[in-house]
Amino acid sequence: MAERYPRILVIDDELGIREGCRRVLTPLGYAVEVAENGAEGLRKVREWNPDLVLLDVMMPDITGIDLLEPIHAHDPDIVCIIITGYATVELAVQAVKRGAYDFISKPFSADALILAVHQGLERRRLVLESKRMQALEAQARELARAKEELERLDKMKSAFMLTVAHELRAPVAAIQGYLRLILDGYADPAKQREMLERSDQRASELLALIEDLLALARVKDAAPQDKRVPVPVGDVLKQVADLLQVEAAKKRIAFSVHADANPTVLATRDHIRQLWTNLISNAIRYTPEGGSVSVSLAVRGDKVEGAVEDTGIGISQEDLPHIFDEFYRTRTAKEMVSGGTGLGLPIVKRIVETYGGNIGVESEVGKGSRFTFTLPLYTEPQPEKALDAAGQADAAAS
Ligand code: ADP
Repeated sequence: MAERYPRILVIDDELGIREGCRRVLTPLGYAVEVAENGAEGLRKVREWNPDLVLLDVMMPDITGIDLLEPIHAHDPDIVCIIITGYATVELAVQAVKRGAYDFISKPFSADALILAVHQGLERRRLVLESKRMQALEAQARELARAKEELERLDKMKSAFMLTVAHELRAPVAAIQGYLRLILDGYADPAKQREMLERSDQRASELLALIEDLLALARVKDAAPQDKRVPVPVGDVLKQVADLLQVEAAKKRIAFSVHADANPTVLATRDHIRQLWTNLISNAIRYTPEGGSVSVSLAVRGDKVEGAVEDTGIGISQEDLPHIFDEFYRTRTAKEMVSGGTGLGLPIVKRIVETYGGNIGVESEVGKGSRFTFTLPLYTEPQPEKALDAAGQADAAAS
């Protein structure tokens, strides 16, 4: 319920003061409550939430000064005005030091009371207003920060869209160029087959790019918690290695796999397959004939560690920080392999990070590269009570 009138609580053991304050303040539109000792006063502070408390400095159960702390613990912005006798001015000064706003000395006139209350309430209004402004300013700063972040993401998204459009346009334009030459009769019939074959090649690259874009976009959506299952990483590695072994053999690359365990991670099988496929196929592609590629899988503590090492072209220190960026391909890689998408490693990074792991790379130009990743090891939760119960049942049966 919204309170329209300022609330004033008078805590004083003298009936005359309590009723006098009530008589003066009520007609001015203040809601007035009274309490005749410290304990009752504190209870009313907590229950009634006054804006201002008129507080007698000397009461039988407690001094007004000792009440200041519990009152302000309840609400630090309650304005406390101490009522004191002539003899205790010093006490009042001490009270002001301990958080009282003001004091008035007995006997006081109605005007003095009204003035003190008025000023006290004005002070509370200002303090609350300034707090409200500070909160609003903090909110505005937070909103501005969020807006900046959104704009930054929006810019990144636009830049990504531009690059995607650019990458998609190139093969389509090439295919259309060949087709037009043939359709307009400019292509020598002997050359037409070659043009169609090149168009076919570019169409395959286009499809690979689209597949990779879809894979990149789907990593997050396809991995909600409820779709994650325990995936045996070693089994998936074996399947991928069997397929890629053929590619390695074509280039006379010595291909080896060392897995001293078949650990499980909580993921989707498709993502673990894609992770191994992208890393191993890169190693084979960027390693010249006669080189070697070795893959290893191990468990270290609560982590699964995978590594793919090759004796290939390597990556320069300048290129290393960028190879996980979308569409980034090094010049030497482009010269060696045409038709890469530059999306394989971004997909790998996104997969590993989605499941709470890390990806790393060390490389030396002309010598080779070593990609490593970690993923959190999944261990089957042990239903301890059920096991105990089963154990006991076994013991009873035997
Ligand atoms: P793509 O292989 O299609 O170009 P990736 O995202 O898989 O795209 O890799 C990005 C770039 O990182 C590659 O173009 C290449 O320059 C570099 N790279 C990736 N793996 C290796 C590797 N094993 N050896 C050398 N360079 C690599």
